[in-house]
Amino acid sequence: MQGKIVKVSGPLVIAEGMADVKMFDVVRVSDKRLIGEVIELRGDRASIQVYEETAGLGPGEPVESTGAPLSVELGPGLIESIYDGIQRPLTTIRDTVGDRIPRGIEVPALDRNKKWDFVPRVKVGDYVTTGDIIGVVQETTIVEHRIMVPAGIEGTVEWIYQGEATVVEPVARVKLKDGTVKELTMLQKTPVRIGRRYKEKLAPNIPMLTGQRVIDTFFPVAKGGVAAVPGPFGSGKTVVQHQLAKWADADIIVYVGCGERGNEMTDVLMEFPVLKDPKSGEPLMKRTVLIANTSDMPVAAREASIYTGITIAEYFRDMGYSVAIMADSTSRWAEALREMSGRLEEMPGEEGYPAYLASRLAEFYERAGRVVCLGSDGREGAITAIGAVSPPGGDISEPVTQSTLRIVKVFWGLDAALAYRRHFPAINWLLSYSLYTDRLSEWMEQNVANDWDEVRLEAMRILQEESELEEIVRLVGVDALSLKDRITLETAKSIREDYLHQNAFHEVDTYTSMKKQYKMIKLILEFHHGAQRALEAGAEFSSIISFPVRERIGRAKYVPETELDTLDEIMQELQEQINSLTQEGGLQYA
Ligand code: ADP
Ligand code: MG
Repeated sequence: MQGKIVKVSGPLVIAEGMADVKMFDVVRVSDKRLIGEVIELRGDRASIQVYEETAGLGPGEPVESTGAPLSVELGPGLIESIYDGIQRPLTTIRDTVGDRIPRGIEVPALDRNKKWDFVPRVKVGDYVTTGDIIGVVQETTIVEHRIMVPAGIEGTVEWIYQGEATVVEPVARVKLKDGTVKELTMLQKTPVRIGRRYKEKLAPNIPMLTGQRVIDTFFPVAKGGVAAVPGPFGSGKTVVQHQLAKWADADIIVYVGCGERGNEMTDVLMEFPVLKDPKSGEPLMKRTVLIANTSDMPVAAREASIYTGITIAEYFRDMGYSVAIMADSTSRWAEALREMSGRLEEMPGEEGYPAYLASRLAEFYERAGRVVCLGSDGREGAITAIGAVSPPGGDISEPVTQSTLRIVKVFWGLDAALAYRRHFPAINWLLSYSLYTDRLSEWMEQNVANDWDEVRLEAMRILQEESELEEIVRLVGVDALSLKDRITLETAKSIREDYLHQNAFHEVDTYTSMKKQYKMIKLILEFHHGAQRALEAGAEFSSIISFPVRERIGRAKYVPETELDTLDEIMQELQEQINSLTQEGGLQYA
């Protein structure tokens, strides 16, 4: 069935004679066969969001429906791939036709010729249902790709393959209840705009550790949780997202570069293949899927990119993996939404964004979570979603930030003033929050230290006190403070500079294990308690704050993970210096 273009307005094309198409069908526009999606239907008039440059298109040109919704291809070959917003394989395209993607190009997302070694996990005669794992493929050195029975299929295995196969060759035959036989391949297609099914959602209760001290200690995100990092230009959103993609303890990373500068994506592409996972020693790319829709690519594809990303994330979740998805930036995505809405002449809401902005954002984040997967083995999977938000001028009262904050449970608020002082990560510790901390307490107490909560709460209390004391200092000067309060200021400074400040580009400092985080924060708190004791014993304030060991505390962050005994030595040295001062001080006092 063919329709005809009646109007072209940027990425929006209106076509007539489209009575047979359905909402969200993918269509091919003009003889160039540009990819588009039906986003509005009125009678036989369809509004089509076109994912490629529409320059040169005009009325009268044909529009053809494919009869299928916008979908992604799922199967071995996803990992290490770099896709655009509608899952066109950028590396493959570049290798064949060069840097500029020709319009209407048709390249399958998954390589049709590559052979994978399929190892069966079921036998002839087994009864299988949707989600059951029928076999596995070692996709990369660290990812086992689990081939699942696709949606809607349930029956008896009649034949199962073992050995090398491409994604389009059959690997199993299943006899359905009605007697028909279904041939299964390793390739599945799933529509991107609706979530993949699972059995049940569970409350997230395990942290997704990131190796970033301010996050893991004070504002942790749970596996299956949702977090946002809003911040003005240059405050460190992209660096935070990159750090998470590198160091988060997830099995699979889906990184969506959404409308940000192209060179940031290049950073990812250059860096990731050489970076090694601290646990496996393997390149980080071997667990990563990249989706790149940079600012110089068509705006509509940007709108699709987060759906493409989350659908791929769901697919790996369904295998029983813990997946983390980062989107940088959801503001650029929302702008794409606003642009389409404007062209559709919809009634604008706040700041020109469509009224459905909030519900679209919610739909995206709701696809995160910890779940019991389909399939009879009861396995669990999780998607943790972290969206960067770039409010214009850093004003977080704008609609995208506000709608996001109503949904997410973790807020890492980046602060321009901190970034200006080069305090990185510029996560403001007074404004940020995590609603998961309580739920993660048990895990932390069992796996980090049984006084973890006490330690973290005390450190935060000191930072809060600092801000109150600073107010007093601003009004009446530092001399108005008691020496006890001045020690609190010293400790707070140490928490900020020696602990919270973390250099993403320093080989050791870039990642800190929980064990090291605990030892580091204990050092600072031990100083705090010791200093108070020394003060009470009558020691001089100046000699307390100039403990020689404080310099070593400041450098504790650079102690490699393999030499954590050094931190115990620093602790010992600190305790000795406190003791000598309390005794001396005590004597002087007497
Ligand atoms: P945004 O994405 O918010 O515009 P970026 O993530 O690009 O900001 O960060 C801007 C700059 O800030 C980086 O190029 C880097 O120099 C510095 N920066 C941000 N975070 C860190 C960090 N954790 N460690 C060191 N430098 C950082
Ligand atoms: Mg950025």
